[in-house]
Amino acid sequence: MTINDAHCHFFSSRFLELLTQGMPDLPAEGRADAVAQRLQWTPPRTAEELADRWTEALDRHGVSRAALISSIPGDEDSVAAAVARHPSRFVGFFMINPTGADADQRLTRAFGEQRLRCACLFPAMHRYRLDDERVGKVFEAAAAHGGAVFVHCGVLTVGVRAKLGLRSVFDLRSGDPLAVASLAAAYPSVPVVIPHFGAGFFREALMATAQCPNVHLDTSSSNSWMKYYPGLTLEAVFRQALDIAGAERLLFGTDSSFFPRGWQAGVFEAQRAALGGAGVSETDRALILAGNFDRLFPQP
Ligand SMILES: [Zn+2]
Repeated sequence: MTINDAHCHFFSSRFLELLTQGMPDLPAEGRADAVAQRLQWTPPRTAEELADRWTEALDRHGVSRAALISSIPGDEDSVAAAVARHPSRFVGFFMINPTGADADQRLTRAFGEQRLRCACLFPAMHRYRLDDERVGKVFEAAAAHGGAVFVHCGVLTVGVRAKLGLRSVFDLRSGDPLAVASLAAAYPSVPVVIPHFGAGFFREALMATAQCPNVHLDTSSSNSWMKYYPGLTLEAVFRQALDIAGAERLLFGTDSSFFPRGWQAGVFEAQRAALGGAGVSETDRALILAGNFDRLFPQP
């Protein structure tokens, strides 16, 4: 059985530095190590060292390839370094704020020389509307480079921000799968990924897949959004998603991020059990766990 993980966060040293920029009580020197210590994480050290730690974790669990997301605007270099070191194992994704002054250059560089393959939008976090024309530029860049776009919708909690006591002023209204559908329809050549089955906007995410053949759903995380749907089980989620989106448009993911926790085998086991319970065929399971990812992000 081949497994590819479509959703992992690359929490590099640079990520920790950028995330804690506004925190005065941290040293300028060795800042990433100090933050890691506060979080009780393994210090990420260099991007290359972290990339090696990731491949060891993937090897241990029999995972072939993984998407690594640079998880704060400005940290694209770290994921680019990881991809350059292990091009057959990693696919580089990058968070971008399309309203940032340098968004155009960042897009060109990320999809170009940095060889990253998917732009990740977090409209609730960066507080912009998906119908903002600057969002269209992200899709245009993706279309020009054969890249994909990931759009986080629904509930958004960022564990590391909470643990560090960082204030998060998110506008959940901005992450609506129906707004994603409108963009996906305008850029039909761009594969679009909505993570966590829409993270609470399950119905809307399914509607988006029904409307647009280029919209995909990732299955990542514990999917705790199910608590907003009394009685809903992961098995039922898979069954309904398969019914509407089909096996070709579901991408397995875990949402793994920091060490020492590493790759989240528990999330995989829960999803494997749900796939079994939903009676998903071998063929469909292979597509969800690996085949779709390889189709969208072929080996370089
Ligand atoms: Zn995530």
